[in-house]
Amino acid sequence: MRLLVLPGDGIGPEITSATQAVLRAASKRFDLGLEMDEHDVGHASLRQHGTTVRPELLDLARTADGVMLGPTATFDFKDEAKGQINPSKFFRKELDLFANVRPARTYPGMKSPVEDFDLVVVRENTEGFYADRNMEQGNGEILVTPDVVISLRRITRQCCERIAEAACALAARRRKRLTVVHKANVLKIGDGMFLDICRATVARYPGIEMDAVIVDAMMAHVVRHPSRYDVIVTTNMFGDILSDLTAELSGSLGLGGSLNAGATHAMAQAAHGSAPDIAGQDVANPFSLILSAVLLLDWHGERHQAARFGEAARAIETGITQAIAAGKATRDVGGTLGTAAVGEALAALIAN
Ligand code: ATP
Repeated sequence: MRLLVLPGDGIGPEITSATQAVLRAASKRFDLGLEMDEHDVGHASLRQHGTTVRPELLDLARTADGVMLGPTATFDFKDEAKGQINPSKFFRKELDLFANVRPARTYPGMKSPVEDFDLVVVRENTEGFYADRNMEQGNGEILVTPDVVISLRRITRQCCERIAEAACALAARRRKRLTVVHKANVLKIGDGMFLDICRATVARYPGIEMDAVIVDAMMAHVVRHPSRYDVIVTTNMFGDILSDLTAELSGSLGLGGSLNAGATHAMAQAAHGSAPDIAGQDVANPFSLILSAVLLLDWHGERHQAARFGEAARAIETGITQAIAAGKATRDVGGTLGTAAVGEALAALIAN
């Protein structure tokens, strides 16, 4: 398995290095033949090459078996003409990574503000309210006059169909419950179509139970009873917000792993940002990126029908559960170790 590794900004390099230590140990034990090809993106690349993402990285991403992207300083990158491209948007759009899969769960031994739960948010990733990706050319946000802004939201049948299909396939492998989160009472046409397509897709999956919840009500429901939910499917921006909430409910944003998956490519990426407030202090939780890598191993294993990738993924997940219970984790999840030591401890656990 050949991975393109892009450490990114802020805490990116620290959590990437810890993740690589874990992946090396998993590769050795499960014979994954993992090769990691590392390149700069974000500020490091802007300083060195005048752009946050060199175009040749796209070819490398296309020919690799997967991409691992650390968080980048998205907020700093405002002007594409000055080479300030949002790397996350770039790869999601260019590789057509339409499904953003974001699991969230509680762990034994860790204080959580809510009851135990285990759910996955499946978020559409290529259109919706995202002004930087819903146009062929130009941008979906328009300054009409200095005091008037119009933001366009794009919803297409094809994108609704493929995200509904991805969510149903996942629900069929889990507890067979699908919750569609929408705002069809206000966005009647766009979210109405999304909801209809989800219903039609579920009808082709016998045994899956579906319910539909309006996004604002969902914020209360998921905080009150997260254990009710299994797979949640929603449009781009609702999924972005909801999945940060579910990651935080699990105890820390530092547990928020995510995969951006398309038909032929996938990119592991932590759900959180570059956390400049804690960068360079060896305190960032690397589990978010390690859990993202776990999703990538599963995706690759399923695609190539190679069980050892799934076995490696399960061993890493079990290791994380044990590490949290034993306090061999960072302070945000009740542990006492630094970022690098967490990676080393987990790698040692997997090696044995
Ligand atoms: P950006 O501008 O890149 O989005 P941000 O700091 O605004 O960065 P996040 O990176 O998502 O947004 O961070 C939100 C909060 O969560 C911060 O206080 C940060 O320190 C904390 N946080 C995020 N990721 C982690 C992590 N892996 N481990 C520990 N704390 C984290």
